[in-house]
Amino acid sequence: MKTKIIDITKQYDEALSEAARILKSGGLVAIPTETVYGLAANALDGEAVKKIYKAKGRPSDNPLIVHISNMEELGQLVDEIPEKVKIMAEKFWPGPLTMIMKKSGLIPDVTSGGLDTVAVRMPENKYARAIIKACGLPLAAPSANLSGSPSPTNAKYVYDDMNGRIPLIIDGGRSKIGVESTVITFADEIPAVLRPGAVTVEEIRNLIGEVRVDGAVLHKLKEGGKASSPGMKYKHYAPRADITILKGSLEKFIEYTKGKDFFALVFEGEEMYFENAVTYGKPLDGVSEANRLFDALRELDEKGAKKVYARCPEISGIGLAVYNRLIRSAGFKIIEL
Ligand code: AMP
Ligand code: MG
Repeated sequence: MKTKIIDITKQYDEALSEAARILKSGGLVAIPTETVYGLAANALDGEAVKKIYKAKGRPSDNPLIVHISNMEELGQLVDEIPEKVKIMAEKFWPGPLTMIMKKSGLIPDVTSGGLDTVAVRMPENKYARAIIKACGLPLAAPSANLSGSPSPTNAKYVYDDMNGRIPLIIDGGRSKIGVESTVITFADEIPAVLRPGAVTVEEIRNLIGEVRVDGAVLHKLKEGGKASSPGMKYKHYAPRADITILKGSLEKFIEYTKGKDFFALVFEGEEMYFENAVTYGKPLDGVSEANRLFDALRELDEKGAKKVYARCPEISGIGLAVYNRLIRSAGFKIIEL
């Protein structure tokens, strides 16, 4: 299959009509969103959704996020809209927030990975919204990378992973945020954050009160343990390079790595201390770190890095999302200095 790329910032009408045509006929289209690029299919068509799992090499029990463009579309996808979901949607939608609810009969089992719940998000990116509107369908869209590798923040990285596997990539420029959405479930009595993102736990608690943070956000799932979010049990965000996180000051990092053959994954302004370095954002600035992390991981591979030592971000605010991705890309190898 030949993979075509259409730049929607230059060929708006053609991009929209081609994307809508493919999606309506049960095909796959990679689309830009503000978090990362998504690999979209008609969420209500089980056969179309199966193609997503195949193109990504994604395990079939790892459910997909369904994307909508306005609140009216939510009702038909879920059993009932909980009051707290309405409050959250009012404040954070459209935006980088995914909410899990009991699903309706319209959602095929392949879309929800066999669960009785469904994850829904209303993206803010204007091109994503226009594509959803143009095809008139809710779109199941996980990140548009091969399963296991870092999520793509631009059309070129989508092409690197998906060339020959999908018919169309819509290029809408770089993703503004750079990490995937916050995922929170409302399927249980007390809401729980299953994956941190740009909408922070602190912001959510301020709005709706008690919220749990699932244990798997910060720690490796125990052998044989049950994942609240199936995605958390799989290897994730991993470049080919072998990453170890060094927790501690820059001085200790320099001391520990002295004389070693490695690439440093460090913050801007720290690269001068190392022979080989890739930076990911500014120190103590979670927004810029989130924005750079996945690109930095891909750049390490492009530079042929084998062994990588990484600086550790602050573990609060959006930094929690950065840390959550980084520990997975490092296979949970962390050294306290
Ligand atoms: P991705 O679309 O690749 O960004 O991944 C979506 C994430 O949301 C994965 O970690 C999924 O396991 C999680 N997810 C999606 N739907 C559900 C659901 N119904 N229940 C729990 N987790 C979900
Ligand atoms: Mg993903």
